[in-house]
Order: sequence, then C-alpha cells, then structure tokens
Amino acid sequence: MAISNWAGNVVFTPTDVLRARDIAEAQQLVANAPRIRALGTGHSFNDIADAPQLISLQDVASPFELDETARTVTVPGAAPYGAVAAFLQEHGWALHNLGSLPHISVAGATATATHGSGDRNGVLSTAVRGIERIGADGELTWVRAGEPDFNGSVVALGALGVITRITLAIEPTYDMTQQVYTGLRWDTFLDEFDEIMGAAYSVSVLGRWGGPTLSTLWLKNRALTPQAETADAAPQLFGGDRVTAEVHAIITGDAPDDNMTPLGTRGAWSTRLAHFRYDRAPSAGGDEIQSEFFVPRAVAVDALQAIRPLGERIDPLLHVSEFRTFAGDDLWLSGGEGGGRVAIHFTWKQRPAEVAAILPEIEAALRPFTPRSHWGKVYSDGFDQAAGFHRLSDFAALAARVDPEGKFRNHHLDRVLTISGSEAP
Ligand SMILES: Cc1cc2nc3c(=O)[nH]c(=O)nc-3n(C[C@H](O)[C@H](O)[C@H](O)COP(=O)(O)OP(=O)(O)OC[C@H]3O[C@@H](n4cnc5c(N)ncnc54)[C@H](O)[C@@H]3O)c2cc1C
Repeated sequence: MAISNWAGNVVFTPTDVLRARDIAEAQQLVANAPRIRALGTGHSFNDIADAPQLISLQDVASPFELDETARTVTVPGAAPYGAVAAFLQEHGWALHNLGSLPHISVAGATATATHGSGDRNGVLSTAVRGIERIGADGELTWVRAGEPDFNGSVVALGALGVITRITLAIEPTYDMTQQVYTGLRWDTFLDEFDEIMGAAYSVSVLGRWGGPTLSTLWLKNRALTPQAETADAAPQLFGGDRVTAEVHAIITGDAPDDNMTPLGTRGAWSTRLAHFRYDRAPSAGGDEIQSEFFVPRAVAVDALQAIRPLGERIDPLLHVSEFRTFAGDDLWLSGGEGGGRVAIHFTWKQRPAEVAAILPEIEAALRPFTPRSHWGKVYSDGFDQAAGFHRLSDFAALAARVDPEGKFRNHHLDRVLTISGSEAP
C-alpha cells in the first residue's frame, strides 16, 4: 500500500499499517513482524518513519496519569501535544515549551528532538523522564532518567522500539502574552543577535534572505504579574514596530486563514506557546516542505552570513525562514546535545526538485559550522549527520545491542548509521 506523510512530499510503501487496539495486541504485532516501525502523526518531511510494516498506536486508549507530587504526567506516546496541553491546563499544570504545532504526537516529536524556542528552553525531549516501549521481542520495558541508557534512548528515531507511554516533567500552569514586531533589519538582527534572541521566553525571527528587512519578530513572554498584558509591550523594539492587527507567519499569503494562536491578548501557555492553533491545519496547510539546520550559538551569526549570498536563489522557493534558539542538553541525538544551538529553518514551497537542488549548497555553506539537520526534515542523502552528532556512533552501538536483528531499522537509518561507520544488520 502507498500512504503519504502529512505534507504529501514522501510516499511510504509498507505492506500494511497495523492499527493496534491495545498494548497487548501491539506487543504481539511487533513480536511477529520481521521489520516494523511506529508511525506517529506523519508530520515529518522525510522517510524517517517509513518501514516494510508500520504500526500506529492511535487507537490505543490509555489514560493520562498526573503525579502532582513527582510533577510528572504519563501519557500515551501517540497522544498529540494539543490533547496533553489541554489536559494539563485543565488540571493547573504546564509543559516548559511546545513546538510550532500541537498536532504532532509526543512519541514522534520526542523521537526527532522537536524543539520550540527560547535561550533557556531545551528541546521538547528534555522534558522526558521515562519511556515505556515494546522491544523487538515484544516485551514492554521502561527506560527512566538516571539509568545508563537513558540519554541515548530518548531521541531514538524509532530505532529502539515502539513507544507506548511517556512520562514528562510538568510545572504549574502559567499565562503568556505574544507580541509581534515588523521592520527588523537584517543588519540589526546580526549586530544584536544575542539581545534579540534573548528578548523573551520564546523568540522567533521570520523572514526571507534577500533584501534589507526581515518580516516579523515574535516574542512570547510568561505573564509575570496578574495584570501583565500586551498593553505593557513597547510600541517599538530593535527598530521594528509592534503589530496590532492580525499577522501570519507564512508571508507568501499561501496559508489557511485564522490558523495562528492569538496575538496581543493574554492567555494560557497551552494557547500561546505554539504558533499554530490545534483546531486548524497548521503552517501553510501542507503545501510545503521543511528543512532545518542547527549550528552552535557562538557561530550562528557567521552561519547566517554564509547562507545570505544564496538568498536570491533561496527566496523564490521559500514560504518563509525562521530562526529560533534552544538550550543545551545531554540527549545523544538531540539538536541541543552538548550546548545551546540556533535553528535555521526553511518552510519551502512544494517544489521538491528545486529544493533538492539548492539544499547541498546550503549544507556546504554551513559545513564549517558543524551543522546538524533536524531528524524529521529534508536534508540531502550525502549530508553527514555524524559530523554534527558526535554521539551517533554510540547510538548505533546502542541500537545494535537493543535490536540486534535490525527489526526497527529502515532505509533512512541505514543511510545515516552507515555514514557514521556502523553497518546495517
Ligand atoms: C507544520 C509543521 C510544523 C513543524 N514545526 C516544528 C517545530 O516547531 N519544531 C520542530 O522541531 N519540528 C517541527 N516540525 C517537525 C515535527 O515536529 C517532527 O517531524 C515530528 O517528529 C513529527 O511527529 P509525528 O508524530 O508526526 O511523527 P512521525 O513523523 O510520524 O514520525 C517521526 C519519527 O518518530 C517515530 N515514532 C513515531 N511514533 C513513535 C512511537 N510510538 N514509538 C517509537 N517511535 C515513534 C517514527 O518511527 C519516526 O522515526 C514540524 C512539522 C510540521 C508538519
């Protein structure tokens, strides 16, 4: 059978997509399959989720378990962040961050180290405190924070088993305000990069590469006082003007109306941290391809300067680029492993051949800066993830130990792990 990912730019060709009704059935299906992988919500833009057989746990009913003493919530891996956020908010709790969309599954986002923004905010996977997964033999095991394999097992690309439940760290709920400024100039952005990216709890800069001016600066702040409102925000910041009317992240105008989270008014974290509303199609509605590279914070300005000469050729293919930051962590395959990084993101138009042609040039421009690609976005087959992710060979050894027959391997992993020097089983 042929199914496509959310954006329709990748066709998977599994023999079937098995839909387990409960965890025991999922265990049986995994034990019996020669090669199988879990599918999340299919929001990745490459073939990382593909396999000869796929299994979905979306029909497995499993409750959310709140532990207020331990400050954790345990959720089904297949649960979308939007559902987890609504549950937590209803009970007075919160996550530290969200990605740009709440539609993705917790297990799928954890597996690829999905991130939001904020100098002090680790990628979403850093909230994980434990993972329950079905191994190649069909057995259920927990891997918990503090255990020797934990740091290699969280961002696992689906290679270590099928995640059934995940325990996440939580904190008391908080309100946020979201403000947008237009008119930020490229030269101001590069000159005052650290001040701009540190100007709020979560900061995104969006725009194109050519021309003197970026499109928008998004600041998401925790409301620190009961009275805090957008009215407190400066009318001008970094040479840009605060927007009071509606504005869209996708500047080509090729996006669904009304799919952005509210600007201006104060609201719960669950309704402000993501860019896109949970009850609407996100981003450009799927008429897009995404790529994203992470470079160390210290060289971010040089890396941006290295790409800018390609700007006139990038811009016609682009809906928008976005620049965000995240904090460092210890998770082997996380974009933040070893220190904070800057995310250089491209939301491309659906022009796959032209995108594939320009990507190697962007990757070459970034090569001096030890770039890492987002695991769930489009990068060239020849891009050397091992050069950026220096724990990749450790991960290959862990995967070979946990899954010696390669039940959870696929073409994507074979490519990446072979480049890292580890042969496919
Ligand atoms: C519009 C849009 C906006 C996005 N914004 C962001 C963003 O802000 N930040 C960011 O970092 N990324 C972003 N992404 C990328 C996205 O977060 C990742 O690709 C994420 O992995 C998608 O999750 P998913 O549930 O769709 O997983 P899938 O794409 O279905 O799968 C991804 C990987 O997870 C594995 N997996 C899924 N479920 C399980 C399971 N139960 N057990 C084991 N492995 C599993 C799969 O095998 C595969 O390897 C965006 C994507 C889209 C489409």
